[in-house]
Amino acid sequence: MLMTESTCSLCPLRGRPVPGYSEQPDPELIIIGEAPGREEKEQGRPFVGPAGKLLRGLLAEAGWDPARVHFTNRVWCFPERDFLDSAIITCPKHYLMPELASLSRVRVVVTVGKVSSSLFFPGLTMKQMEGKARVCRTSFDKDVRIYLATYHPAHVLRGNRSARERILATLIRARGLLSWFS
Ligand code: SF4
Repeated sequence: MLMTESTCSLCPLRGRPVPGYSEQPDPELIIIGEAPGREEKEQGRPFVGPAGKLLRGLLAEAGWDPARVHFTNRVWCFPERDFLDSAIITCPKHYLMPELASLSRVRVVVTVGKVSSSLFFPGLTMKQMEGKARVCRTSFDKDVRIYLATYHPAHVLRGNRSARERILATLIRARGLLSWFS
């Protein structure tokens, strides 16, 4: 999907959406984060800031080719104003869900952080969701997918050392689950 130059007015954030992106047209994995940071907002691409770079390194360590990973977020605008609660509800209906439907061939999805994971593991705390895998077909999926939840790489940058190992373990597990669909 191409970067858009126009702003969106579907929720009070009224920002310039940062669409999902993969370097190659045939991704094997989808990563869903929370919302773009400042660097992502400036470049118009998700997961290009420090947390994204860390995550790309962990993906490579787990055996994924980061160029074949589609990166996206639950909320597509930088949450610079106090309207994140509204955006969390509105944004995925208009952007993330149609995006996931358009990527129906990608059968493994990893959600990083509480905001994105709670969309697929409702009612659970981050501690309860972390490391969990769920095989399901949501209303916007054409077929079943495996969803796995883990911490956001920003936790590692904030000094949570165990988060690095937990994220890596989930990415390795996700890699192993690819064979279910091959
Ligand atoms: S967060 Fe989503 S719904 Fe809200 S303005 Fe941005 S793109 Fe539109």
